[in-house]
Amino acid sequence: MTAHATIPLPPIADPVSDAAPISREKLEEIFEDIRSHPTYDHEIHGCLNCGICTATCPSAHYYDYSPREIVQLLWTENLEGIYDAMQEKIWACAQCYTCAARCPFENSPGGLVMILREVAIQHDFDSVKEVLRPFSRVLLKVVSTGNQLAPNMITKEAFPDWGPNVAKVDAPLAILRKAIPMPTMHTLDTAWEVNLRTSVELYTIWEATGVLDQLEKVDENLFDVVSDVMEEKREEWEEWLEEQDDDDDEDDDD
Ligand code: SF4
Ligand code: SF4
Repeated sequence: MTAHATIPLPPIADPVSDAAPISREKLEEIFEDIRSHPTYDHEIHGCLNCGICTATCPSAHYYDYSPREIVQLLWTENLEGIYDAMQEKIWACAQCYTCAARCPFENSPGGLVMILREVAIQHDFDSVKEVLRPFSRVLLKVVSTGNQLAPNMITKEAFPDWGPNVAKVDAPLAILRKAIPMPTMHTLDTAWEVNLRTSVELYTIWEATGVLDQLEKVDENLFDVVSDVMEEKREEWEEWLEEQDDDDDEDDDD
């Protein structure tokens, strides 16, 4: 980092965008937040540039995205490249961690992407809001129930804002599932009935770990909705506890 500080370089600007240029100090601040993340040293140990991670990465097959590139940018401390990748590319990772299982250096590109996402939110990147906006309903489900999106929810009725492409996914699903039976489909209904106590404990975890603060930065409206859901569930939980106390008192009287 000292090497960067001694070289007087101009601010970084995107030649095809009206966005204000970003100063070298800001780039260094962002990289420092990445490098000082508690898991950073655990996720990166070097890089051969061999490309095994990219060859096995499902997202690399469909998007302009490469875990090898992400690791190389970080390993070589390419601050401009890191900043650029944080605008969009980091959101293409599916967090499957195939890369981590294959890397001969025991790097975890997927884990590094998680760090980059956290820092992008922390630094209030506009791109975060743009990229995550279509997923607000998924976020609502995940944060309010602790469950991920169930396969049977991906329908054009549930996601009209995803445009016509969701119909392409939705249409052949029933046929595909008959052809390739999914052993977990029978658990879908029960997966959405989350125990009240579990929900209330989850909300405490979201608060204590800063997840809700991040959500507020990314989508204030969604944060308000989630806060209302949390308040409602907490009241239900308190009422249930009071009912138990009343029942215990009645048993004692008997
Ligand atoms: S992160 Fe690992 S698998 Fe990927 S290019 Fe570097 S050394 Fe190879
Ligand atoms: S965790 Fe991300 S980068 Fe790694 S293989 Fe999966 S999609 Fe690719």
